[in-house]
Amino acid sequence: PSSTRVANFGAGPSALPESVLVEAAQGLLNFNNTGIGIAEISHRSKEFGAYVKETEALIREQLDVPSTHVILFTQGGGTAQFSAVVLNLLARHRLLHPDVPEAERVLDYVLTGSWSKAAYEEAKRLAHGATVNVVVDAREHSADGKSFDNLPPHSAYKFSPDPALIYYCENETVSGTQFGFEDGAPNSFPFHLLPDKPLLPLVADYSSSFMSRPIPRLAEHAIVYAGAQKNLGPAGIAILIVRKDCIVDVNAAAKLGGYPVPISLAYKPYADNDSMPNTPAVLALYITGLVLKRNKSLGGVRYYEEVNRRKKESVYGALKEGEEKGVFQAKVREGAGSWMNVVFGVIGEGAEKRFLEGAEKKGLKGLKGHRSVGGIRVSLYNAVSEEWTDRIVAYMREFIEEESK
Ligand code: PLP
Repeated sequence: PSSTRVANFGAGPSALPESVLVEAAQGLLNFNNTGIGIAEISHRSKEFGAYVKETEALIREQLDVPSTHVILFTQGGGTAQFSAVVLNLLARHRLLHPDVPEAERVLDYVLTGSWSKAAYEEAKRLAHGATVNVVVDAREHSADGKSFDNLPPHSAYKFSPDPALIYYCENETVSGTQFGFEDGAPNSFPFHLLPDKPLLPLVADYSSSFMSRPIPRLAEHAIVYAGAQKNLGPAGIAILIVRKDCIVDVNAAAKLGGYPVPISLAYKPYADNDSMPNTPAVLALYITGLVLKRNKSLGGVRYYEEVNRRKKESVYGALKEGEEKGVFQAKVREGAGSWMNVVFGVIGEGAEKRFLEGAEKKGLKGLKGHRSVGGIRVSLYNAVSEEWTDRIVAYMREFIEEESK
């Protein structure tokens, strides 16, 4: 590896594999032997069109995406999807149930952290008379009554009988909670409590965990989406896996009520035009494709599941030792901790600053927690190697030793 590069534990944009960056630099000069750089070539060229198809296939293959779902690439990051899911799925509900008054349509939100809350706030802005229902609010189950530090017990979830949308965020990047992976476990998403109806409009934000391990019950989701800039590539694209019945004619829906959907947020033009109704984020898509190719060569999501499991076990192990010595304090309840973003506090006057400065000296960067929760955040996305993980863990142990002298 290049000696100028440090171990980057940033939460996003975040580290990308060095070999991919080297390849991308070549692509900037000459994309797939066209003699034209990737930032210069027409998105309508046959070479780029083929590349988009190939990238799509890499996702379909690695995540076992069923033929009931399409894969789309959009711009506007995760935030544009906060709006898009509401607009497209309200349109769908309107087409399915034209006689239901707008005020009787319901959007269900599971609140487990600041990102699901941000999506919920956007739904309230765009609901246009529909009710935005809180299925459960993790803050009500927290130690201090106001923090997103846990995953609520299944008994607390109250889903609506026929919502236009059911929304959750699989991995909360800021607070550091993530739904469990084992189906039916107390920390898993309560799929078994969802209304017993076919084609549920279940939406999941996977922005900070996409491709880090398989997606449980993917086929039962209406929409799974992820901004690329954590595990996959540069900022600029979002990847969407959308069940075909959720790709609706928003213009026909607008004739029934509500309001028109901005063309850049409607799914159908993307689905009808191989994700290119307009100019896509060509460079971001290109680098994402390179990362996916590399993933495949390593063994895909099953490979990352194993590696990421070892990485998080190692960091949580050091965190626990620090807790026992009164040096660290986990900010998330046991069993709710994210594999991708490990969030904790450093106890004592000036201790957090000492931790960050000491880390910096060792070339360990990007560790400062989000301003809203403070403390430390160790992000362990796919491109964070086990070697980097060993280095942060060794540093955590050293720090524990030093502070408990
Ligand atoms: N959802 C999650 C889980 C995130 O972590 C982020 C960004 O960090 C977003 C959504 C927002 O994504 P973007 O910045 O691409 O709009």
